[in-house]
Amino acid sequence: MAIISSNIGDNDFSFQKKELRLVDSKVIPEEKRKNNLNIARPSSLKEFIGQEQLKSYLRIAIDASIYRKEPLEHTLLYGQPGLGKTSLAFLIANEMNKKCRIASAPAIERPRDIVGLLLGLKEGEVLFIDEIHRLNRLTEELLYSAMEDFRIDLTMGANRGARCRTINLPRFTLIGATTKLASISAPLRDRFGISQKIEFYTYDELQQIIINFSRLINLNLENEASYNLAKISRGTPRIALRLLRRVRDYAQVVKQTNVISNYLVKNALNSYHIDEKGLDSLDRQYMFFLNQNNNIPTGLDSIAAALGDDSSMLEFLVEPYLIKIGFLTRTPRGRLLTATGKKYIDSKNDNF
Ligand code: ADP
Repeated sequence: MAIISSNIGDNDFSFQKKELRLVDSKVIPEEKRKNNLNIARPSSLKEFIGQEQLKSYLRIAIDASIYRKEPLEHTLLYGQPGLGKTSLAFLIANEMNKKCRIASAPAIERPRDIVGLLLGLKEGEVLFIDEIHRLNRLTEELLYSAMEDFRIDLTMGANRGARCRTINLPRFTLIGATTKLASISAPLRDRFGISQKIEFYTYDELQQIIINFSRLINLNLENEASYNLAKISRGTPRIALRLLRRVRDYAQVVKQTNVISNYLVKNALNSYHIDEKGLDSLDRQYMFFLNQNNNIPTGLDSIAAALGDDSSMLEFLVEPYLIKIGFLTRTPRGRLLTATGKKYIDSKNDNF
C-alpha cells in the first residue's frame, strides 16, 4: 500500500500500513467465516438482548403469521453495521421454523443471480439480502413482482423471437438490511410490510451481551470489567464482542489466564492503543489534526487528505462516535472540536 504523507505542520500523519480497526463496526475477515464459534448469534427473540420495542413488534407479527400459516411479511431492517440485522434475520427464520438463505446485494450482479436465489427458495423460507440499497435496477425490478405476487416475469430471447414467461414462486419472506435507508428507492421500500430501525444499545444491554458471550467462551469476567468494555463499545454489539475476543487473546497469551479483571482489560486495551474513552489511534489522529489546525472549522475532504483516509470512512465510522461523546461538532463551515474534545486531546498530546 502506498505511503501517504500529509506534510502538515510539525506532525506527520503518514500511514505505513492501514490496520484493521478493532472499534470499527464493519465486519472483519475473522468474523466472516462460516460456522464461526466467535460469532454467537442469538437463536430466538428471547436470547436477543435489547431492542425491546422492535422485539415486541416482531413477536406479534411472527405469532400472527404462524397462526395464519403464512410467511412473515417482507421486512426491512435498517441501522448501523453490527447492531444485529443479520442475527435478527436468522432468528426470525428460526422462530418461523424455516431456513434462512443469505445474499449480499453487491454479489447479485446479473438478473440470473436473483432468479437463481428465488427459484431455490421453498415455501415460507426467508431470503435475507444484506446492503439491499446496493441492488442494481434490473434485479430490483425483478424483485417487485416476486415480493408482491410471488412470481417473476422473464423475457427470453431477443427482438422478434422474444417471449415473456411467468414463473410462480413459493411464498417467502424477504428480509432486507441496509445502513442507508434513504438510498432505497420508494417502490422497493413500499413493498416491505414491516420496516424497523435498529437502535444503538445501552451500556447495560451491551454488558449483558458481553457477559453472555464470555460464558459461552469460558471466560470469567469481573463485573466492572464487562461494564467498562460495554462503555467503550460505541453502542454496537459487534464491537463489544470483538473487543472481548481481543481481551481474551491478551489474557490467555500474555497472562495465561481466563479470569478477566478490570485491570487486565485496561492493560489489554492499552496494548491495542485503545484509550479509556474507547478511541483508537485513528480517532486521536483525527482530533489531533483538528486541534493542530487552531480549531478553525475544517472540511472533511481536507481532513481525509491530511490523514490519508477515505472521507466517507471518516464520516460514517469515526465522526459519529466523536459527536456522540461530545468531542466534535459539524458546522456548515466544517468540523470543529468542542471544548471537551480539545481538553481531551490536549491531555493526549503526542500519545497516539
Ligand atoms: P449486522 O447484520 O447489523 O451488521 P450482526 O447481526 O452481524 O449485525 O451482529 C454482529 C454481532 O453482534 C454478531 O456476533 C451478533 O451475534 C451480535 N449481536 C448483535 N445484536 C445482538 C443482540 N441484540 N444480542 C446478542 N448478540 C447480538
